[in-house]
Amino acid sequence: MELEAAVSANLAAVRARLDRAADAAGRSPDEIRLVAVSKTFGVAHVEAAAAAGLRDLGENRVQEALDKQAATPALPLRWHLVGHLQSNKARKAVAFDWIHSVDSPALLGRLDRAAAEAGRSPQLLVQVDLAGEATRHGAREDEARRIVEAAAECRAVRLRGLMILPPWSDDPEAARPWFGRLRALRDELQAGAPESVRLDELSMGMSHDFETAIEEGATMIRVGTAIFGRRTRPGGA
Ligand SMILES: *Cc1c(COP(=O)(O)O)cnc(C)c1O
Repeated sequence: MELEAAVSANLAAVRARLDRAADAAGRSPDEIRLVAVSKTFGVAHVEAAAAAGLRDLGENRVQEALDKQAATPALPLRWHLVGHLQSNKARKAVAFDWIHSVDSPALLGRLDRAAAEAGRSPQLLVQVDLAGEATRHGAREDEARRIVEAAAECRAVRLRGLMILPPWSDDPEAARPWFGRLRALRDELQAGAPESVRLDELSMGMSHDFETAIEEGATMIRVGTAIFGRRTRPGGA
């Protein structure tokens, strides 16, 4: 099948799953933003996604995403950084519309200064590591609290919510407690947050478990494989 037809058929199936899950949870599908994760795929896939009607694209590496943005300047796309961000790449990262992986007050400060200098105002999420996995990136709960407090001082960036990448399991039910805990943490952080900070967004759920995430309150789901197919290049974890 041609690429555009394949992406569009996959997207229709994903939207049908999204609609069903929202309906079952008594939510409107309009409350849930579908972020299509195009990491490791090339410009042709980005173009096919845009042609299929997708507007939000997710990437996990800054330079790879910037190259795709540069190749598609006319497409009406919003770019999301969903992968780990090293602080020395903060300056480049402010080209994204959304950054899901803020994990320290220092990184928040760097992004705010870089965004102010570049005249940008990216929206940010705190990636939270609730499982305490040594190999994972993300802020622990107390660190997340410090990031939320520091957000009141930001001038250019806007902190909007939390993101989680739970421990891997192919069983969607295994992720449910993590999604529920992220929502509870969001409620708790919101209750104690400075007045100017509103944590409305929960980025959680991927190809195999986004229905569970929607039931638990996700406002953004990050879907790669179910839209673009299996990734064959490494670095696509
Ligand atoms: C790759 C990736 C996804 C998408 O994963 P799929 O299983 O392909 O849907 C979502 N979130 C993050 C942070 C990723 O790195």
